[in-house]
Order: sequence, then structure tokens, then C-alpha cells
Amino acid sequence: MSAKVFESKEVQNLLQAAANLGSQDGNQRAKQITHRLLSDLFKAIDDLDMTPDEIWAGVNYFNKLGQDGEAALLAAGLGLEKYLDIRMDAQDREADIHGGTPRTIEGPLYVAGAPIREGVSKIDLNADEDAAPLIIRGTVTGSDGKPVEGAVVECWHANSKGFYSHFDPTGAQDEFNLRGAVKTRADGKYEFRTLMPVGYGCPPHGATQTLLNTLARHGNRPAHVHFFVTSDKSRKLTTQINIEGDPLIWDDFAYATREELVPHVVEKTGGAALGLKADAYKEIRFDIKLTPLVRGKDNQLVNRPRAAVTA
Ligand code: FE
Repeated sequence: MSAKVFESKEVQNLLQAAANLGSQDGNQRAKQITHRLLSDLFKAIDDLDMTPDEIWAGVNYFNKLGQDGEAALLAAGLGLEKYLDIRMDAQDREADIHGGTPRTIEGPLYVAGAPIREGVSKIDLNADEDAAPLIIRGTVTGSDGKPVEGAVVECWHANSKGFYSHFDPTGAQDEFNLRGAVKTRADGKYEFRTLMPVGYGCPPHGATQTLLNTLARHGNRPAHVHFFVTSDKSRKLTTQINIEGDPLIWDDFAYATREELVPHVVEKTGGAALGLKADAYKEIRFDIKLTPLVRGKDNQLVNRPRAAVTA
């Protein structure tokens, strides 16, 4: 049996001192959160009888995580980002907000600043031999079901190697390759002319994959396309679609798949006339329904560090 010290006066005083609860100075919310998280950690150390070796392995892991720049990736892989979605879904139900296109996680690979086009954007700037042409199109509607004019639909996705522009370790892609922004006209329609993405995995030697290996988990995602949709009169939507047929759709290491977000992939011809690299192409229709502001405010705007480039 291990000694239990968590409840002792000495440890409770230590926690209060570490979070500086005795002082009126500092950020009260930060102090509250620090005190709680540290208390939960201390209690877990007691309950699980964690050894010093385990604690220092954990401390060192945070150093490695920071060196690799993977904290946001790990947040997705451990379900933290999904958990935020589950909470927002529950808040929407409580607020009686229904019927919009479901949200799903943003992930860490958005880049702000893609040039905004009217109605249609061709976003495959770099040749990619292994990727076939793809059109993603749909209509943005409001909660009244009517098309939304002036909505901005942004999308971003990986290439055939599973790499995103701006974050591509091979340096093969220009800024904003496979990233685009389209502003809808009165008909609410948007269209991206692009190339089919593939799924991708965590960097194999990074801190995230190291932990996943320890848990006997893979670090792969099915092929997908990310979206932000914004409009003056609606709440911002952060979502993704999966590419139908990908074997990992229900085995996504980041838990982003939702049943309503796997639209059909349809075979089409006539791509040459649309400026695609082949006449045969695939088309995905993804209609987007936005939800209304809450008391005039968008409660879906999430502040987090994001890459930004001036196009
Ligand atoms: Fe992604």
C-alpha cells in the first residue's frame, strides 16, 4: 500500500501556494484553473502511486512535445478537441439550436489569408501527378433555408502525399496550394476545383506518435477536407467532410468523423471544359446550413493561434 498524502494540510497548502490563491494579484481565472489542474494531477499521482521515474518521463515528454511543435496535434489525438465539440453540441441543444450542418474539429493546419474568389475558386496551384481532379460544390443556406449571399466558404486539405501547403516538410507546395476561399453570390453557391486528397498520419518520430505507439494506437486520419464558413448573419461553422470510401472513416485518430459529414463522391465527365486536368473527375456536393446568431452574437468564434500568410 502506498502512502496517501493528497488530503494532508501540507499538500493542500502547497497547492494553494503554487497557484498563489492567497493573493488578490494576478489573473483570477488562471489561478483557479492552475489550482484545479494541479490538484487533479497531484491526486492522480497519489491514487495511481505514480513513481518519480514516471513523473519525469512525463515532464520530459512535454519538452519533446514543445520542441516538435505538436501540442495542438496531440490535443486532437487525445480527443481534447473532440470533447470541445461534444460540449458545444450540448450547449446548442440547451439553447435550442438545431438543424445546422454539424461542426467538427478544426485541427492545427489552417492558414489565414487565402485569396477570396467570387463563387468559384481553382485551388490546385501545384501539379500533383498522383491526384485526380475533384470538384466540391454546394449551396450555403441560413436557418430559414434560403441561400446566403456574401458567405465566405474557406477550405483546406492535403495533397496526394498527405501534406498541407505551408506545413509541407518536402517544401513541394506553394503557399495556399489546396487552400481557398469563395464568397457566395445571391444564389448561395460555392465551388472549389481541386485535387483529391488522401489521409495522412502524425509525423512518425514526433511526440504525438510516440505516445500513440505507447497506447497501441495509430495516428492516421481518413482523407478529408476542412471548412470554415462565415457570414454576417450566422454563426461561424467549423467542419470537415470525409472522402466516402476511405477505410479509416470510422477509425480517425482525431475523432472528427460524423455521419452527416460523409457526402457521396460522384463520377463525372466534362472536366476538360472546366479547366480540370482530366475530363473524368469526381464531384462532391456538400450543402451547408448555417445557424443563427445567439442574441445577435456569434458564440462560435474560437481564438487560438493560427498560421497566417499574406497572399
Ligand atoms: Fe486535416
